[in-house]
Amino acid sequence: MVSLEKVSALSELASYDMEQEERLKFIPLSGEKDLPLYEAKTPKGRCTLFKTLMTNNCKMDCKYCINSNCSKHRAAHKYSPAELAEVFSSLAKRGLVQGLFLSSSIEDPVDSMEKILEAGRIIRMEKSYRGYIHLKILPGSSFEQIKQAMEIANRVSINLESVSPSHLAEIASNKDFKNDILKRQAWIRSIIKGSAASHPQGEDFFPKSPSDWNPGGGSPDANPEGVPTRALMHVSHTSQIMVGVDGESDWEIFSLAASEYDYMNLTRLYYSAFKPIAGTPLENRAAAPLWRQNRLYQADWLYRVYNYSRNEMHFAFDEDFLPNTDPKVLIARELFQKPLEVNGAEENELIRIPGIGPKAAKTISSFKGKITSMRTLSQLGAIAGRALPFVKIDGLHQTTISSFS
Ligand code: SF4
Repeated sequence: MVSLEKVSALSELASYDMEQEERLKFIPLSGEKDLPLYEAKTPKGRCTLFKTLMTNNCKMDCKYCINSNCSKHRAAHKYSPAELAEVFSSLAKRGLVQGLFLSSSIEDPVDSMEKILEAGRIIRMEKSYRGYIHLKILPGSSFEQIKQAMEIANRVSINLESVSPSHLAEIASNKDFKNDILKRQAWIRSIIKGSAASHPQGEDFFPKSPSDWNPGGGSPDANPEGVPTRALMHVSHTSQIMVGVDGESDWEIFSLAASEYDYMNLTRLYYSAFKPIAGTPLENRAAAPLWRQNRLYQADWLYRVYNYSRNEMHFAFDEDFLPNTDPKVLIARELFQKPLEVNGAEENELIRIPGIGPKAAKTISSFKGKITSMRTLSQLGAIAGRALPFVKIDGLHQTTISSFS
């Protein structure tokens, strides 16, 4: 019988790893115990996840983490894989959760990863669960373990935490940025691409410049023995980075994010503004402002979804930091020193105008008639007030909505 105290504690302790789109909610279990559950966005929409650690007993010294060996909170809890599978299965059968996000503190990297995998196997094979599973890849996991995790999970992730080997060493001396994290990400990438047979090994892999970030090589269509490429096509790959924990600049964070999207097959990078936790070595370090995290999400969106180039993205930064202003507006001020005539404009020009998103850019650029008023532009999907300073409509450039007929 698994104690409610353990279930509740290991779920709550997983909150150190919250993603921006997750919301914590508590449901009463029995007596005075509440179970923390996580509202999350998944590829199939919003769902409630059972997010938990296998154990909170960690031998690592990450200075920001409540579960580290240098934290003062040391009451240790642990699931066996069978216990975890039973708890999740009972919550899923009662309709309380629609998915699992399973992580673990690290007692031994390979052994702790093995326990995650074993729990996942029991849930998939013995409990016949076909829903959403997100498995955390632990730093130090083997290539085989990562491959197995990707055969079980819908999503896998390994946290970057910081921007470089030296920054990470400052806050987590047991983690090797290149070997424990980037190399494992490259394995995930190569498995997704179906090039597992030629996965990178050794020092040659480590990226020195963006052009070196293509370590796996191989044909995306290859299907090496034992890798069910068709199934893995649906596995998403995410990561997380802390913002403002160790003096890193926003440009350093953004540049790493861009390389991750370009070369690591990353689906999403989640940004998490640093919050000091009482009882950890960083408890007196200043929290990072939430707006900084949010501006990084906006910059990420421009690069990842709107396909801005790195050169264009430079315009959003002031001495390597994002001001607390919409980066799309900052970039537009540089790109459109003369207003853009909306009639005849290309989709990729229009999408760079504040107030015009991808759908509106497509609609406006394919509009057969002539746009002669702000009203027509709004009807085609633009947000007039935001677009006005950057556009001309039928030759007219005005700065207020009322100036247009
Ligand atoms: S590896 Fe680091 S971040 Fe993860 S649980 Fe252990 S101390 Fe926390």
